[in-house]
Amino acid sequence: MVESAIVLYGNKIIDISLGTAVHVEFGFENVWEFKRTCKDFYIHNLHFIHVHPEGFLNYSMTDLNCIQGLNLAFGDVVLFSIVCFKNSNMNDLSYGIRTFFYNKEMVEIDYDYDLISEKHLTVLKSLSYYGVNILK
Ligand SMILES: [Zn+2]
Repeated sequence: MVESAIVLYGNKIIDISLGTAVHVEFGFENVWEFKRTCKDFYIHNLHFIHVHPEGFLNYSMTDLNCIQGLNLAFGDVVLFSIVCFKNSNMNDLSYGIRTFFYNKEMVEIDYDYDLISEKHLTVLKSLSYYGVNILK
């Protein structure tokens, strides 16, 4: 299992990344390019989501540095979520999630998880567990 990540703008996937067993980086250039070409860009539609191994729903120091950097880059707070799948079975998308923003400290929020669709979960799980980007 490796970490993977997507960046959503509303319901639309604007970046997909495959990482290693302990790390993944968001494709910042793709996000920036999307922002540049998007009319009426609204930062609070951005949502940075990445997968951790099962049982590790806590954010790491790397995650903390990352979210601080994203805030600086975008000049406002961004949404940041960690997803853990409960198993490697593609027929079972059961998962846990925690969502944060950073404003002087990490703040966990209740997020409307209906906004993360089965498609988003399938993309993340097939990347993390099978190394396959189903959108390609
Ligand atoms: Zn992480």
